[in-house]
Amino acid sequence: APKASWIVYSDGDFKKLDEVNFYTNNQALNYGTGVFEGIRAYWSSSSSQLNLFRVEEHYVRLIESAKALKIDLGLTINDLVEITIELIKINNFKQDIYIRPMALKKSLMPGEKFGVKLSGVSSTLCINAMPMGQYVNSLGINCLLSSWQRVSKEAIPSYAKITGLYVNSALAYEEAREEGFDDAIMLNSQGDCTEATTSNVFIVSNDTVKTPPPSAGLLNGITRQSVFELCSYLGISCIESNLNKQDLLAADECFLTGTGVEILPVIGLNQKKFGDSAGRMTTKISELYDDIKKNRVSSFSHWITPVY
Ligand code: PMP
Repeated sequence: APKASWIVYSDGDFKKLDEVNFYTNNQALNYGTGVFEGIRAYWSSSSSQLNLFRVEEHYVRLIESAKALKIDLGLTINDLVEITIELIKINNFKQDIYIRPMALKKSLMPGEKFGVKLSGVSSTLCINAMPMGQYVNSLGINCLLSSWQRVSKEAIPSYAKITGLYVNSALAYEEAREEGFDDAIMLNSQGDCTEATTSNVFIVSNDTVKTPPPSAGLLNGITRQSVFELCSYLGISCIESNLNKQDLLAADECFLTGTGVEILPVIGLNQKKFGDSAGRMTTKISELYDDIKKNRVSSFSHWITPVY
């Protein structure tokens, strides 16, 4: 078997990836009862600095997600940031990286009864950090309006990043790939837009930026919230509004937002083409996002946490 070349944090210790064991009776593995985050840190070769991006907001959300599954991490935001910084330093990453913290219901201890439940099951925290550059290497992607309905927030709380929820995303993603598209956008039972498989959806119509509200049943993404502040900084009007299939197809521009995809132009939706590359507003927002993540805009420097 290939030997893992990096160090991860697991169950209170730093260890090699291939020294982490999960057992077959692991609850999260059996029932999807885990929560996770995706956090980025950006490397600047000119200053030899590595900067975490909005790390505190991600750990606030991890703690909230964990509560939804009755997982008490027993760690503060500060503890989590410190562990993350130590993990990165141990690995000595000198490139853009992606950090994946995961809190899992773990294997049953002797005396615990196996079953689908949340209370009375111990949990564990692991953090994996890995090199990751641009997630999607293209001028823009084509999306399919999925035939899979998004899991409603009445079924699984959509404010929480729960591992089991991503089966829905994976099904939608596969359908889109099989039909020649790059990603899927999912609607709710009302026919309103929710989100893409791992990102939020924005459109631009008549110079107004629009995105569906969390009440539609979607993750209130940190990048989504960043875009509100970027629009305000740029003097662009940005509103929350339910968007149906017709609204999406009639848009002037469309883009996805997420820690992984950053600001990603959508150039086509089903058979509709928005353009050959990013639209004018999408480009403005995306350029500002790139400047901010590289800590070049002082009014957003509070989003940056230096590692080294
Ligand atoms: N929706 C879903 C389903 C996601 O998995 C993600 C990625 N975390 C997002 C939206 C975007 O969230 P964020 O901007 O906080 O990364």
